[in-house]
Amino acid sequence: MEMKEFQKLIGDIYYKKDSARGVEGTFRWLCEEVGELAKAIRKKDRKNLEEEFADVLAWTFSLANLLDINLDDAIKKYEKGCPKCGRIPCICEE
Ligand SMILES: [Zn+2]
Repeated sequence: MEMKEFQKLIGDIYYKKDSARGVEGTFRWLCEEVGELAKAIRKKDRKNLEEEFADVLAWTFSLANLLDINLDDAIKKYEKGCPKCGRIPCICEE
């Protein structure tokens, strides 16, 4: 599934609920899910990791839908490499 399709799918599934919850509440959920991902990383449980990545992505797309951000367009920022140094791979100092 392409990103554009996934964003639409998440909108079809959750937009009504996301709208009712609002940006603040939806952002809080995204943060919760990032916390769940942190736990999965600590546990090194591959199946759980995959699920938590899916949840983080879903909530990210939900939030983008609420804020009317097209993530397919947003990722173009990285199309030509690192936005700072313009290189692939990045040669910026940490
Ligand atoms: Zn760079």
